Order: sequence, then structure tokens, then C-alpha cells
Amino acid sequence: MVKSKKKILDSYTIKGTKKTVKVGDCILMRAHDPDKPPYVARLEKIEEGSRNNVRVRVRWYYRPEDSIGGRRQFHGSKELFLSDHYDEQSAETIEGKCTVHTFRNYTKLDSVGNDDYFCRFEYKAATGSFSPDRVAVYCKCEMPYNPDDLMVQCDACKDWFHPECLKMSLKAVKKLENYFCPDCAPENGEKRSRKTRTRDSLSPEDVEVQMDRKRHKQ
Ligand SMILES: [Zn+2]
Ligand SMILES: [Zn+2]
Repeated sequence: MVKSKKKILDSYTIKGTKKTVKVGDCILMRAHDPDKPPYVARLEKIEEGSRNNVRVRVRWYYRPEDSIGGRRQFHGSKELFLSDHYDEQSAETIEGKCTVHTFRNYTKLDSVGNDDYFCRFEYKAATGSFSPDRVAVYCKCEMPYNPDDLMVQCDACKDWFHPECLKMSLKAVKKLENYFCPDCAPENGEKRSRKTRTRDSLSPEDVEVQMDRKRHKQ
């Protein structure tokens, strides 16, 4: 019996470059279709087989459009889901390195580079379910936060609002120093009691249902 000689490597130098990727890095992998953006994955294992043939084990990140539910309005343009889908690939398909930030860190970035992404959900590829299965919602429209959209925070209740949902222009919002939402704003000198919010979170799958309901109401 011939025992195949496999060597576990800590890092791999991307072909034609001096860039090195390590286990644990987030990497971009060439899509089969050259018109498509590269796939994003987390590098789990690097293995060198016979004839210097390097294979990598990866855990895929899914783009919202690749998920069963598809892209929703609250998904950011750089949003990814960490999936439970693993694969083995030739290391030659690795194009480069990227950074997948936590949602919190992503919202704090001064500028978003080409290779900056964020992830706030894990995704089960077989069932299309998300974890966490609840997501905080904001504004009158009760939507999860899309970091691509500008929002304004109420100084009293600390909820966040879309300028368009308040019928305010972006220009007006940017000039504001303090903002009080309609529920918190003192009206005729009298402070209205704030409505109790009945829903502070929704499941990611529920959000579309919620959006549809809103749409019909209008
Ligand atoms: Zn809104
Ligand atoms: Zn408020």
C-alpha cells in the first residue's frame, strides 16, 4: 500500500505574488465565471500533496444573493454570512486576502476598502436559517440596520431613524446637533409619553414578511 505523503503547511504564497496567506485568514478565491466577484472564504487548512500540489480546506462566506432568502433591503453591500459549507480547493484559485469585520467594527471604519467585508450572521446552507435568529430593528419602519444607510439617533430614546422615514432631507439631518424623534419631541411644551415598543427584534426571515406588510399598509 502506498501511503500518500501529505504535508500540513501554516501558510501559502499566492501564485505570482509575494503575498502570503495563513490558516485563519479570510481569502478571495477566483469564481468560475470571470464576470462574477471572487468567492470569500476562511482558510481552515493548507495541505501539500505530491508534486507540490497544494490544496486548501475552506469555509465559505455566502453573499446575501447566494442565500436561499436572497438579498434583502437591510443587507449591506459588503455583507457576508459565515456558512457551514466547507470545501476543498486548489490553492491556485486563491486571488488575495480580505478582511471580514464584525458588524460593530465595520460600522466604525473610517473608510471601507475594496477588501473590507462584514459578517453578523452565521448561515446554514442546507436550511437557509440564520444564527443569531433574532435581529434588532430600528426606526418607524422597524428594519434591521443596514450600515450603508445613514441613520440619525434620537437623543432621548436612543432609537435610530432613516431620514427618509422622518421625511427629512440628508442635508437637514447632517446639520442637526440634537435630534428628538416624533415620540420624544416636546409638543406644545408637553412631553408626550412614548409609545411602548412591542417589537425590538425580528428573525432575519421575518423581516421580509414585515416589509411586505408595511408596503401593503401604505
Ligand atoms: Zn426607517
Ligand atoms: Zn425618541
